[in-house]
Amino acid sequence: MSPLSLYNTLTRRVEPLEPLAPPRVTLYTCGPTVWNYAHIGNFRTFLFEDLLRRWLEHSGYEVFHVMNLTDVDDRTIKAAAAAGKSLTEHTEPFTQAFFEDRDYLRIKPAHVYPRATQYIKPMVALVSRLLERGVAYKGEDGSVYFAIAKFPAYGRLSQLDRRELKTGARVSSDEYAKDDARDFALWKKSDAEDEAVGAAWDAPFGRGRPGWHLECSAMSLDEIGRRFGAETLDIHAGGVDLIFPHHEDEIAQSEAATGKPFARHWLHGEFLNVRGTKMSKRFGNFLTARDLRDQGVDAGAVRLLFSQTHYRQSIDFNDEALDGAREGVRRLGEFRERLTGDGGRGTGDGPLAELGKKMEAEFTAALNDDLNAPRAVAALFEFVRAANRGMDGGAAGSGKALAAFDRVTGVLDVLPTPKRLDSALSAWVEERLAARAQARKSKDFKAADAIRAELVARGVEIEDTPQGTKWRVV
Ligand code: AMP
Ligand code: ZN
Repeated sequence: MSPLSLYNTLTRRVEPLEPLAPPRVTLYTCGPTVWNYAHIGNFRTFLFEDLLRRWLEHSGYEVFHVMNLTDVDDRTIKAAAAAGKSLTEHTEPFTQAFFEDRDYLRIKPAHVYPRATQYIKPMVALVSRLLERGVAYKGEDGSVYFAIAKFPAYGRLSQLDRRELKTGARVSSDEYAKDDARDFALWKKSDAEDEAVGAAWDAPFGRGRPGWHLECSAMSLDEIGRRFGAETLDIHAGGVDLIFPHHEDEIAQSEAATGKPFARHWLHGEFLNVRGTKMSKRFGNFLTARDLRDQGVDAGAVRLLFSQTHYRQSIDFNDEALDGAREGVRRLGEFRERLTGDGGRGTGDGPLAELGKKMEAEFTAALNDDLNAPRAVAALFEFVRAANRGMDGGAAGSGKALAAFDRVTGVLDVLPTPKRLDSALSAWVEERLAARAQARKSKDFKAADAIRAELVARGVEIEDTPQGTKWRVV
């Protein structure tokens, strides 16, 4: 397999990826909490995971990708109650919106999208197992907690010092800070609000609802257990804010139950910021994918923008950076057209083919080195510059260069979205071009120019070439 190395948060080192049963790679990525629309900060994380997935597949791995949908937790319940709806009525439209945004951003669909509310049975089973093993207990408030003192490895992922652990003290909310490392809720006794929105289920240890951390442990173990008989994931990924407490708690619950390592490789993507502050619903500094789509932003530009920064570095989002990426995407599209036009000159070797080979080698080395996308993108643009110069001088080898270009842009998926042509427009353009050719033939250049202006007015650009007149919608 490929010499792919990735930074592992668990060891704080870049390590070779060694899946348990190659070529299979099991990949679990924490999905959106569907209480509202996901913002492009969320999508920065999902796009980094998309690059990971695509690069693994490009390298010959067979990826099984699970992304959960958090459709019951503190936030979804609060939002449903505020909207006067049931949990499902409230979350389902946001789940559908998430899929639409995913498709707009060209993110490859995961193989399964388990919804937390449909996995209550394995969640209840996991809590029962932890109670049996004596690492969980029922508090006097009726909720079930995980006893962090009973799990010596607690704090390893987030590098919490054992002295910082407040053993015996409890925290019941889904989200809490590092200095609040206490026994956390696995199963929360239901209250009136939970009942009102339909977020309460019967269990042997009392009626209630799952804690957010428990959901991911139960869903991931269920998915890989049923399919592959496995209890260890090859890769688990999310944003850096999930390291503590979410992933720390996932490890504790899963490993205390199975006695096996929960995930071999932990990957965390840095934040998308706005003027130095994390993009977040809470801070009101967010933009959704649909906002960008409605502004006519090509998804290729968003993908290119995020690829220009390494996933372990934060990005500051602003219009200038986005405009730069839009320009980059346009250049890539134009370059491809030029190369395609040039491709008629054969599929043989030549300087252009050599440039393509060199670029692909650099691109591959960069992504194998902890997914260094900015280095890969730099190699791509360097190639565009050099190949354009080569084509100016009539260099050969464009067919192979085009193939290399298509392979790498297939991984990044950053080319402009092809304009959809409706057949009525095509027919009209063809008719006008025929009229223009006729006018030119009879040397009526005034009429020919008028037709060109007519075409331009409808966004159609034309170019007269030795092979005939070419046109495209711009
Ligand atoms: P949530 O829907 O809040 O559960 O978050 C979904 C994913 O988005 C998680 O992996 C978070 O770590 C990630 N995330 C949230 N905010 C940001 C941000 N500003 N930049 C990058 N990733 C983020
Ligand atoms: Zn999760």
